[in-house]
Amino acid sequence: MNYSEILKEIYAEVQPLLTQGQVADYIPELAHIPPTKFGMAILTSEGEQFQIGEASEKFSIQSISKLFTLTLAMRLEGDAIWQRIGREPSGTAFNSLVQLEYENGIPRNPFINAGALVVTDMILSHACPPGGLDNAHETVLDFLRKLAQNAEIGFDLDVARSERSTGYRNIALANFIKSFGNLRNEPDKVLDAYFHHCSIAMTCSDLARAGLFLANKGRLPWNDEEIIKPNQAKYIKSLMLTCGTYDSVGDFAYRVGLPGKSGVGGGILAVMPGEFSVCVWSPRLNENGNSLAGTKALELLTTLTGISVF
Ligand code: GLN
Repeated sequence: MNYSEILKEIYAEVQPLLTQGQVADYIPELAHIPPTKFGMAILTSEGEQFQIGEASEKFSIQSISKLFTLTLAMRLEGDAIWQRIGREPSGTAFNSLVQLEYENGIPRNPFINAGALVVTDMILSHACPPGGLDNAHETVLDFLRKLAQNAEIGFDLDVARSERSTGYRNIALANFIKSFGNLRNEPDKVLDAYFHHCSIAMTCSDLARAGLFLANKGRLPWNDEEIIKPNQAKYIKSLMLTCGTYDSVGDFAYRVGLPGKSGVGGGILAVMPGEFSVCVWSPRLNENGNSLAGTKALELLTTLTGISVF
């Protein structure tokens, strides 16, 4: 497949969309990003790479981190995670509080903020045993460095601080979940780790590489290392398809036809099992918090190639 030509066509077609939508200015630091940026990178299971635009520029991965924290939690706790988190689409905004009260502090799924806070709590319980070293931030960072094969990946501490200073909703969510007994650690500690995970800065090509194990039945294609079991890779991709793009997940699945995970930094990571991993970045978001031009670019990718999970 000649992905270079397809990327060029996509790049031309999305240009008029780069001025539509809004950047996520509720995290003040994200409001400074030039809003018309666009990058896209495809990495095939055979190791071929294709990219266009600002695919080598770092951006804030935000909720795309939820994909990797879920993977880590599954490695650590397996199916036990489902005692504390659901796996149904929420139909509400990613930072909504409404369902939590009548569902007794059990978040609908691991990809909304409430679910990711519980996932982060699980990782903390393993990474920071009582009396042990506190290396929760690094556990997730090291995992991403390994998956992306890039030791330079790091936190954007300005973004982490910025979100912390205005993170009233997430602070409310963590305290609310704690009140139902569904956090083992103190909310402050969970929030600190969560904000750091969201602040990680990566490029489209870093993220495409980091997601490739999902297109490859849970294994790193370059050395055959098992990251997760094949059935767990299936579970994660199913959750991406049903919950990965919040309350526009139906529209995303309809248009794109690939499991995907978005973040309010404007990135979307999607995978085509057995074929490729793709990451697109464009900071302006639609009203549900997914990259507007990014969603269109992925729709064009599956339309122009005729390749999708359906
Ligand atoms: N850090 C962001 C938040 O908690 C992540 C949300 C997102 O990317 N959808 O609000």
